[in-house]
This record gives sequence, structure tokens and C-alpha cells, in this order.
Amino acid sequence: MSSAALSETLARTAPLYERVAKVIPPVEWPVFARDIDAILELKRARNAVILAHNYQTPEIFHCVADIVGDSLALAREAMKVDADVIVLAGVHFMAETAKLLNPAKTVLIPDMQAGCSLASSIAAADLRLLRQRYPGVPVVTYVNTSAAVKAESDICCTSGNARKVIESLGVPEVIMLPDEYLAQNVAAETGVKIISWAGHCEVHERFTAAEIRGLRAAHPGVVVLAHPECPPEVVAEADFAGSTAAMAGYVDTKRPARVVLVTECSMSDNVAAAHPEVEFVRPCNLCPHMKRITLPKIRRALETMRHAVEVDPAVAAKARRAIERMLTV
Ligand code: SF4
Repeated sequence: MSSAALSETLARTAPLYERVAKVIPPVEWPVFARDIDAILELKRARNAVILAHNYQTPEIFHCVADIVGDSLALAREAMKVDADVIVLAGVHFMAETAKLLNPAKTVLIPDMQAGCSLASSIAAADLRLLRQRYPGVPVVTYVNTSAAVKAESDICCTSGNARKVIESLGVPEVIMLPDEYLAQNVAAETGVKIISWAGHCEVHERFTAAEIRGLRAAHPGVVVLAHPECPPEVVAEADFAGSTAAMAGYVDTKRPARVVLVTECSMSDNVAAAHPEVEFVRPCNLCPHMKRITLPKIRRALETMRHAVEVDPAVAAKARRAIERMLTV
């Protein structure tokens, strides 16, 4: 790119830089600006929208995304998309969920390898065996699963609505898959007996109670917000536990002077960009799957229209039922 062209690009993207100036140094911006400028043009040409998860990096989250949120918000919004193309800046199960809920659209994921340790911890055959072992017990499946697993389930849930979903069933016992810690945390809140699976989020399972106590000692007065995919002993040390949307909402409304978000790294960057008045303490656990999504890959996805996510229609009908049932709760 010539220096004149770069100057024009920087001028066009200057208002976007304002949104992320607190978390992206000026020296790094020209590299991002070129891809951002191209992506904005490609979105117009392809009639595309970008849905970005809260764990995406700030240059994606604040500069090219049309809709941002946790997996529940992205599922709800995917249903309403009118554009021809949805680019999912997140992991594969999120793109699959968007395709299930809005099958007429082309849903692209910029990297097919963007998986999830929870989704890969369980297969549909495992779930069929559990049903044989616990006949009649309803199955609640976390959205962090493949469409094939969702298709074997009675209802889905997210970390944002797990408690409501479990309580909506009105039964004393449920099978809840695949996140063992989310299941234990929800069981403690609801009193419902939960049969769980030994799946874990590779980001949240690494936090420990001792680490939280260390953070409190090192940063007096810090408010600790933890994701419910963390082990129960970590949640027990926190001031508040909730989904990424609930954590962002907490900071928006309560404006703590000093806070730590016990979750994936980029979440703090994204919330911090909008809250210069709040001091963020940042223990950093990265999700390697979320970090596979980058601006150059989003740009390439829109240029080449790859990788389109497809779901077997027979599986899709059953999986959609489990998600739609969740959305009515
Ligand atoms: S943060 Fe955890 S739950 Fe989310 S995509 Fe990464 S591995 Fe999966």
C-alpha cells in the first residue's frame, strides 16, 4: 500500500481507533486499519454482518463486528439477521448454532479449526449411552456442543440461562452436559440433582481458588467476577458469578473502582475499552480456539466466501428444536 493510500485508510478508520485507543497502541493500528477498511467494504459488497463473541480481540469486537455478545445473545441475534451472509467471529459451535437458527443464510467461519474443549469432550453416542443408563431423566445440553449432540438433547442452555432452564423443567434430577463445573455451580444454586459429564473449558479450569486469594491480597478492594465454567471453589471465592454478558452488565451498572474478570483475556480488553474509569486487574488465560479468528482471516472469509458451515438436515431439525425450546424459557 502506498503511503498516500495508507494515509487515506488511517483517516477513514480514525473514528474506529477512538474506540480502542485505550487497549491498542498507536504503533499497531496501521496494520489493523488496512484489514478493517477492507472488511468494512467487503461487508457492504457481500451484504454480510459479523457476529463477534465477547472473547474476540478488541480490533474485531469494536471495529468490524455488527453484533457482539455471549453465546446466548449471538444465538438470539443470528435468528433475526436479514443480511445474506453471517460471518461468525467465534468458535465452530457458535457458527453451527447460527446456521441452525437461520438456515437460509450463508454462515461463514474464518477458521474451521476454531473448536472448543467442551464441544469436543462429548459425542452423540455418549449421550445415547447416558440416556440408556438414566431412562426418563431429561437432558440439558450446554450450547458449547456439536449439532449432533444438541439433536440428542431435550433442551439447550447457556451460562447466561442455565439456572432458568433447569428450573423450567420442574424435575428433581437432570442430566446436564458437558461442563462438569457449570453443572456443579448450577446444582449448588438450584438444589436440583445434576448428573454431569467430565468436560471442562480449558480456559476456565486453569483458575484456582489460591490464585483468586492472591489477587485479592495483591490488589486490595478488587471486585472479583467469575465465569460459572470455573471450578466451584473459584466461584466460591468470587463476589459475583455470571456469563460474560452478566459480567459486562455488572461493570456497566456498578462501575467498581477496581475489578478482575475471571475469564478469557480479551473480555477485559473489550470491557476496559468502554470503561476508562475502571481499573482492570488481568490474570490472562487465552482461549487458543477463539484466538484463531483474526482480521486477516475474516477478510479472507469474505473475499473467498469460505468456510461455509453446513449441518445435516436430519440432525438440524432435532438440534434446532432443543435450541428453540431454550429460547422460549
Ligand atoms: S473459552 Fe472455553 S468454552 Fe469458550 S470456546 Fe474456548 S475452550 Fe470453549
